Amino acid sequence: MVFETLDHTGHEQIVYCHNKDAGLKAIIAIHSTVLGPALGGTRMWNYATEQEALDDVLRLSRGMTYKNAVAGLNLGGGKAVIIGDASKDKSEALFRAFGQFVESLGGRYITAEDVGIDVNDMEYVYRETEYVTGVHQVHGGSGDPSPFTAYGTLQGLMATLNKKYGDEEVGKYSYAVQGLGHVGMEFVKLLKERGAKIFVTDINPKLVERAVDEFGAEAVGLDEIYDVPADVYSPCALGGTINEQTLDRLKAQVICGAANNQLANNAIGDEVQRRGILYAPDYAVNAGGVMNVALELDGYNRERAMRMMRTIYHNLGRIYEISDRDGIPTYQAADRMAEERIEKIGKLKLSMGRGTPRFQGRIRGN
Ligand code: NAD
Repeated sequence: MVFETLDHTGHEQIVYCHNKDAGLKAIIAIHSTVLGPALGGTRMWNYATEQEALDDVLRLSRGMTYKNAVAGLNLGGGKAVIIGDASKDKSEALFRAFGQFVESLGGRYITAEDVGIDVNDMEYVYRETEYVTGVHQVHGGSGDPSPFTAYGTLQGLMATLNKKYGDEEVGKYSYAVQGLGHVGMEFVKLLKERGAKIFVTDINPKLVERAVDEFGAEAVGLDEIYDVPADVYSPCALGGTINEQTLDRLKAQVICGAANNQLANNAIGDEVQRRGILYAPDYAVNAGGVMNVALELDGYNRERAMRMMRTIYHNLGRIYEISDRDGIPTYQAADRMAEERIEKIGKLKLSMGRGTPRFQGRIRGN
């Protein structure tokens, strides 16, 4: 059964991690190491069934292959899930046991934080293995990726405006920003600095208040965000918000935001394209976070990180070229760009031998 699934998904390796004493039940999925070691976060979630955990890790690890490839990183795709309740099942032993499994893969998989995991958990993982990013800044870690993600989203936005309107004057357009968390608020700040008109919403009224007071945004209701007269809809909260119910309501001709999995399904992606709305593929736009942690591998440097964020502009431009070249929706063009890079660079790497991660910037010790 499992191998049948893997034939279909193309995964290289699945590792079931078990340590009874530490209460560890985890799955590491390595989808591809063609471009380099498989990088992707660890999620801790109280999955109802083991099958649910397996399905999630297979889906997420495959997504990382595409994201890392489009981001231009020399990294493959992987992901891990720890089965458990993040609010009560965490312990030093659990994360150290998990770290030992990561270490046993000798660098084929490099982990990071994801839902349910924070930098303190990663500190324990780091005691057992070097193959971890997102560690504390005192060890050469990169810290909170959100400002980078927001800045990267701005780069993606500029490329998208350029494609749609032939200019990149962010301040000329109006925006509907959904979600004012770590990324959303920073994005609003960047938009405001460029003089844009901004509509905002969030379930947390304090955040809305801040966006209004500090950045002159106009507050609207949670559901109203789909109806405002904005040129750009910018989802920065949840996934699946572009769906059968919302698409008819959107006035925006451009969709560009940081949230993951914005399209409810592929059919919606096709319909967005058919209506002439330009959709900036989410995983290409929000790659700032992964770019930032990837830089930890050969010595983190903030300036390099900011420079790297600017490559998102070119990545989006390339996606739109492929979309035009092949007559396909932009969400498909992003996947194609990833596949083409894996194919081309993969061949090159095979002939030259694969690189191993270096971790030059790391300072060991507790
Ligand atoms: P966050 O949790 O800090 O912020 C999310 C915000 O959305 C919160 O303020 C929350 O109150 C709000 N929200 C939730 N449901 C909402 C709703 N129905 N309507 C309006 N607002 C709602 O998360 P974040 O780190 O800012 O990430 C935002 C999105 O970007 C997520 O989808 C995340 O997966 C994605 N992303 C983040 C990063 C990063 O660097 N943080 C990188 C890549 C992708």
